[in-house]
Amino acid sequence: MRSVQISKPRGPFEIVERDIPEPGPMQVRIKVQACGICHGDSITKEGLFPGIQYPRVPGHEIAGVIDTVGKGLTTNTTTEWKTGQRVAVGWHGGHCGHCESCLRGDFLACRYAQVPGISYDGGYSDYVIVPTEALAHVPDELSATDAAPLMCAGITTFNALRNSGARAGDVVAILGIGGLGHLGVQFASKMGFKTIAIARGKEEEELVMKLGAKQYIDNRSQNAVEELNKLGGAKVILATVPSAKAMSEILGGLTVNGKLVIIGASEESIEVNPLLFIQGRRSLVGWASGTSIDSQDTLSFSVLSGVRSMNEIFPLECAAEAFDAMMSGKARFRCVLTTGN
Ligand SMILES: [Zn+2]
Ligand SMILES: [Zn+2]
Repeated sequence: MRSVQISKPRGPFEIVERDIPEPGPMQVRIKVQACGICHGDSITKEGLFPGIQYPRVPGHEIAGVIDTVGKGLTTNTTTEWKTGQRVAVGWHGGHCGHCESCLRGDFLACRYAQVPGISYDGGYSDYVIVPTEALAHVPDELSATDAAPLMCAGITTFNALRNSGARAGDVVAILGIGGLGHLGVQFASKMGFKTIAIARGKEEEELVMKLGAKQYIDNRSQNAVEELNKLGGAKVILATVPSAKAMSEILGGLTVNGKLVIIGASEESIEVNPLLFIQGRRSLVGWASGTSIDSQDTLSFSVLSGVRSMNEIFPLECAAEAFDAMMSGKARFRCVLTTGN
């Protein structure tokens, strides 16, 4: 099989031939059809997490078909995973089942949580082995290239919004229009929120209005805080931009009990005025993806509502080019690798 691996931190993408791996107990082998490229793949590319074993194949937005199920799986009568089923795997690539978080049912916070492409070889490959608890069914209505980017960018925006506490009709602002933001606008509007898109410049205005935004705020020529306050303030601001400065500056646009939900990763610090937060009981929370059943919900909701990621498609061999397009921010909006399988 073909795999695209990284041999050492900051090393190049290498296309290599490998033996097709065999699944172990409670694992399946997926024949990969599409794999989205995510900013999180830079963790493997740049060696940003300690303990990554190299060579490592990145990729945690995987869609394909179950090719083989591991031994022992058929003896588990509760499982329904079979050869030929269309499946997808996202950031949550497995959990231990016995740590304190798992015992509390909070699998995402598992102490030994696994991520495809970081903990084990991921989807930049013809085949991938994953544990069954990481699998989501893919509905017939979605192609593999439709499903793949919904497995990280999609689930993260969908799950953050549906758990934000906002209710139908509430003002929800999406800060930043890119891979995450263009999905956030669609999900928010289909969930019935009064969706306000905020970005810098005029380029994306026409598009976000088509995607369901009720209003566009150009954060370069307009004061986004003032504009949000004209609407009574936002119940939720979904911060997709990886900029702590942009997040700090928008906090004044939250209404009473409003919440800034952070999904854009940044290493800088956010500045908060305590009085603003005390007086209006405002809050600041982060959100990360979800488990496989949340992925399945994301895919189902996308079918129901017509939400789709806008993708640039690249063949597996062009992984380096696709990764650069994503990192430069020039891609509109997600890059997806296809294997031809
Ligand atoms: Zn991701
Ligand atoms: Zn656990």
